[in-house]
Amino acid sequence: LIPKTVDQPAADPVQDFDPRFVALPAGHFIGGRIVPGDGPAIEVRRPSDGLAYGEIPEAGETGVDVAVRDASEAQQKSGWGDCPPRERGAVLRRWADLIMENRLELAQLEAVGSTRCIAEAYTGEVPFTAEAIRFFAECADKYSGDVLPTRSRSLGMLMPEPYGVVGAIAPWNFPLSMASWKCGPALAAGNAIVLKPSELTPFSTVRLAELALKAGLPPGIFNVVQGSGQATGSALVRHALVRKVSFTGSTLTGKNVMTDAAHHGMKPVTLELGGKSPQLVFNDAGDVETVAQRIARGFMANAGQACVAGTRLIVQRGIADALVAAIVRHASHAVPGATWKAKSRFAPLINQRQAEKVHTAVSKTVAAGAEALCGGDFFEGFGGGFFFQPTVLTGVQPGMPAVEEEIFGPVLTVQIFDEEEEGIAQAGHAVYGLAAGVHTMDIGQAMRATRAIAAGTVWINRYGRTTDFIVPTGGFNGSGLGKDLGRQAFEANLRQKSVLLDF
Ligand code: NAD
Repeated sequence: LIPKTVDQPAADPVQDFDPRFVALPAGHFIGGRIVPGDGPAIEVRRPSDGLAYGEIPEAGETGVDVAVRDASEAQQKSGWGDCPPRERGAVLRRWADLIMENRLELAQLEAVGSTRCIAEAYTGEVPFTAEAIRFFAECADKYSGDVLPTRSRSLGMLMPEPYGVVGAIAPWNFPLSMASWKCGPALAAGNAIVLKPSELTPFSTVRLAELALKAGLPPGIFNVVQGSGQATGSALVRHALVRKVSFTGSTLTGKNVMTDAAHHGMKPVTLELGGKSPQLVFNDAGDVETVAQRIARGFMANAGQACVAGTRLIVQRGIADALVAAIVRHASHAVPGATWKAKSRFAPLINQRQAEKVHTAVSKTVAAGAEALCGGDFFEGFGGGFFFQPTVLTGVQPGMPAVEEEIFGPVLTVQIFDEEEEGIAQAGHAVYGLAAGVHTMDIGQAMRATRAIAAGTVWINRYGRTTDFIVPTGGFNGSGLGKDLGRQAFEANLRQKSVLLDF
């Protein structure tokens, strides 16, 4: 009965296309228009073939200041923060509709410059972006303050209000949907937002902002600044008029962001950081092929360049051989190809630096005694693009790089256990606590493991996100602070004023 807007099969519109003919909205987006910017230019390269295909200006302190001041003024003068929340919701809904109307163009823009293959961008990334914005449009008038029973005769109230300007910083691995997870809740709550996309994938976010304007968002409420993390990102976090920071990226950068936010106005931060997520599989996990498919998708999606990639298989001895053999079979079916080819299903790594990181971690782990059952090197024949083969490593020990580090590549390590407690202990990680998979038909065992594993999300008998945006996501420990998605993300973009009223 509910119209389906996501998970549609790749239909006719998904065709091979020529990346040279995709128009790039280059520049910052400030005050409702594209601004060329006068900072130094940063060259942007395509992951599929390594060619430079565009450039962006870099906003330094001055450029960021212009964008933030503009956003602050717009937030105060346009009425966005004060208008009835339902009206804000209506604008966001129109925006989501426009995203779907421009689905192919956005998917192509994403596929040229990121690691999203066109079929996946069209059937996943773009509709998921629209759906996330729709979810937050619904939040706009659903959650409000509170009336509190006081001991005196006063009326106690919690009055939510927007922060003013939210500064947001996004990673490169899912550029459009990560942007929507930041903009959706911030805008629905009545804030203006200044967003810095990754300098590796800067273009699609500007198009997103253009569509928001077309949907009725007042100019200046959604500004985009381009540039590197050091120059632009840090200036944004430190700006005095930015009152809340929402960041998604690596744990290392998250620490810098938190430090900057603390030293420049004690701003609240939402930090969605890295992970090294376990897939804990018990003997009674069910059909081996089904579980293998789940595990394979969990570490191969976006070539492992997903924060929640399930990269550590921790499997009970009775099922281990059959499961690992099936995973290796699935891994060998990866279809690598340029992201603008309709048949491509397996993504390139984002750039040479990332390629070296993955290759080094695998080589060091093999040199330390692990065995690669498949993969271990790059696919050949892709010129300047870096396509790393799905790799399954056995014989690994704690301490080896591929077991400990978030290497952000399609690499799965295999550890075997006998007793439940042993498996649960192996699933823990000294630094990260982002996500985990638990696979068993024994509900008691599933819940014992779920309770014992320190992870912000646990998937039982499944793995990976869906469009159930009502379920928040966020990490424990080194994987972050606070939640994206869900009512919690919306509420994190409001501050609560306590009011006591005497009659
Ligand atoms: P990154 O930390 O290198 O960069 C993220 C963003 O921060 C970029 O826009 C970058 O320009 C900016 N940045 C860099 N230094 C900065 C500074 N000092 N101040 C402010 N901004 C700065 O991460 P990445 O390589 O772009 O993305 C991959 C990482 O993101 C992985 O660790 C992945 O796990 C994580 N991630 C987490 C989630 C989640 O929901 N937890 C989702 C996606 C990605």
